[in-house]
Amino acid sequence: MPILANDTNRKSWLEVPENSDFPIQNIPFGVFLTKENIVTVGTRIGNSAIDLGALQQMNYFAGIELTDDMFMQDTLNDFISDGQKTWRLVRNRIAEIFDETNSKLRDNLKHRDIVIFEIDDVEMQLPVLIGDYTDFYSSKEHATNVGKMFRDPDNALLPNWLHIPVGYHGRSSTIVPSGIPIHRPIGQTLPAGETTPVFGPSRLIDFELETAFITTDANVMGEMIPINEVEEYIFGMVLLNDWSARDIQKWEYVPLGPFLAKNFATSISPWIVTMDALEPFRVLSPKQDPSPLPYLQQKGKHSFDINLEVAIQPENVEPTVISKTNFKYMYWTMSQQLTHHTSNGCRVNSGDMMGSGTISGPTPDSYGSMLELTWGGKNPITLIDGTERKFINDNDTVIMKGFCKNGQVRIGFGEVSSKLLPPFVRK
Ligand code: MN
Repeated sequence: MPILANDTNRKSWLEVPENSDFPIQNIPFGVFLTKENIVTVGTRIGNSAIDLGALQQMNYFAGIELTDDMFMQDTLNDFISDGQKTWRLVRNRIAEIFDETNSKLRDNLKHRDIVIFEIDDVEMQLPVLIGDYTDFYSSKEHATNVGKMFRDPDNALLPNWLHIPVGYHGRSSTIVPSGIPIHRPIGQTLPAGETTPVFGPSRLIDFELETAFITTDANVMGEMIPINEVEEYIFGMVLLNDWSARDIQKWEYVPLGPFLAKNFATSISPWIVTMDALEPFRVLSPKQDPSPLPYLQQKGKHSFDINLEVAIQPENVEPTVISKTNFKYMYWTMSQQLTHHTSNGCRVNSGDMMGSGTISGPTPDSYGSMLELTWGGKNPITLIDGTERKFINDNDTVIMKGFCKNGQVRIGFGEVSSKLLPPFVRK
């Protein structure tokens, strides 16, 4: 089925500011709360939030097989379950409805009033009920940097890393959308030079710049999805901040990997940008040497050219951009990650989320964590207000942005922005 929604010649009758992440060619999916406290599935064009539940009720999706309440829900799980064909039909129809030459909704002010909201007047929610969350570790630069710091500079990559898309199971209960502040965690750490651990607020709070993909129902238990089919099961992508407590991590991670250093908070951008919208930005991923085992081998372009940046914003100060990188540097692709994930028969459901792992580029200004940017705190970063950071301070806001751009169109993710508050105080 052709992806008509990607037609770069199309213009919308809705205003789209120059350099917007959300032209009519994007049509991401999200869930928002209106001023009247109604939750709905929606999309966004320019700075307009569009109520898809209302559009469906007024019959704008006639001819597409959808359950009656498909968009009048507080998650996208059912829609995502319907599969790629439905996603395409719906995106194509939305593009048609908002095409500048289509007068049907454009000239119906009563309907427009019901369907369209100013983006600032809605409150974005988590787009899916995330059943399971997995985080990978797929940037060779990041794994090498961390290996040099935490283990052995001469053998930074562990022997399995070039053969397996390494990952761990995270926790979905503390995944929150952009805008929700988080608390500095308390935990067990081993102070330098000591042999007895202490319990108290983490002193080394870090971000990890990541993207994540959201899946549809992929398999039955026991079934592996072959690499050449697996992309059909990926609905779209978001930006992800994998908040990390480095001091807790260092003490707890051997032998079973990340636990409380990671699961206190994970922040994501609220609009899921579909793989269909990202189609024009396919690129080759880095050459893999040694060649992976046959079940992970693929030909063609399976990475995406997504520009990414991170900024730190102290209270009442302008943000300082501290890193710029690109998703295309990732060594393992999303298809390899998902095929590997199902290779033992592990079941993957609609609304599951898979983090990419920290995205670090080849140069020191393209690293995706404070751990690497300051090299373990040895080289502090100076912000616009003159203050220095080794890690994240209380009341700092971490802002991550991402967009794709070619000569014809810009497709963006908006941002994931979250403030770090002091430790939680029980009332
Ligand atoms: Mn991570």
